[in-house]
Amino acid sequence: MLLRPLLDLLFPPLCHACKGYIPIKGAEETPPQPFICADCLGKISFLSSPLCTCCGAPFATANGVDHTCGACLSHPPFHTCRSAAVLAGPLQELIHRFKYGGKMHLANPLGLLAFQRLEQFLGEAGGECVVPVPLHRKRLRQRGYNQSQLIGEVLGKKLRVPQVVGNLRRVRWTDPQTGLDAGDRVTNVKGAFAVRDPKALAGKRVLLVDDVFTTGSTLAACVDALRDADVAAVLAVTVARGLQQ
Ligand SMILES: [Zn+2]
Ligand SMILES: [Zn+2]
Repeated sequence: MLLRPLLDLLFPPLCHACKGYIPIKGAEETPPQPFICADCLGKISFLSSPLCTCCGAPFATANGVDHTCGACLSHPPFHTCRSAAVLAGPLQELIHRFKYGGKMHLANPLGLLAFQRLEQFLGEAGGECVVPVPLHRKRLRQRGYNQSQLIGEVLGKKLRVPQVVGNLRRVRWTDPQTGLDAGDRVTNVKGAFAVRDPKALAGKRVLLVDDVFTTGSTLAACVDALRDADVAAVLAVTVARGLQQ
C-alpha cells in the first residue's frame, strides 16, 4: 500500500511538457502514460473527424462525416495519412525539444501519444512493418539520431511489428524545408529517397512514420520511392500536423 507514495517521492511523476507534478489519485494507481498532465493535454488540439479519408486533412463538412478532400479527389494519393494533433502549444514545444534539443527520451511520450490517438487507424491499417522517414547521413551525424526512427520504434513495439531501418534511404542532400513554399518543398525533396532492397518491402503494407506533417511533400517523396518498390500500401502516420492558414 505504501509502495506507490514511496515511489512517487523517489521518482515523482512529472509532466514532460510543463515539468509539473502529475497527481496520482489512488495509492495503487500508476501515473497516467504518456506522462503529460491533464492541463497540457487540454492545450493540445487533437485531430478528429471530419477529416479527409485519404490525406487526413481536417475539413468541415455539413454532417461531420469524413470525406475525400478536393485535392485527393483530383489527384488520388497512393497512401493514406493521419496525424495525432495540430503542431501548436505544448506539443510543438515537446517536438522542438525532441528534435533540436537532443531530448531523445521524448520519443516515448510522443510515440505513445500518437499510438493512443491513432489507435483505430493503426489497427485498421494492418501495417506489416514500420519504415521511418530517413535522414541524410550528414544530418544524422549532426543530430546524432533520427527522430522519426525513435518514434517508429515506440509504434512498432505497441503494434508488435518490426521496424525496417536503412532500406528506405535519403539518397540526396536536401536543404531544410523550413521557409520554402509548398511548390518549392515538392521540388526540393523530389527524387531524394530510394529503396535499397525493393524485394524486402514488395507486397507489404508499410507504416511510414514521421514526426511532423507540414505540406506532405517529404512523405509524398517517400511514398514515390516505396511505390516504386511495389509495396502493397503506404499508411503514413505523424505525431503532429502543421495547419496552413
Ligand atoms: Zn503539463
Ligand atoms: Zn485529402
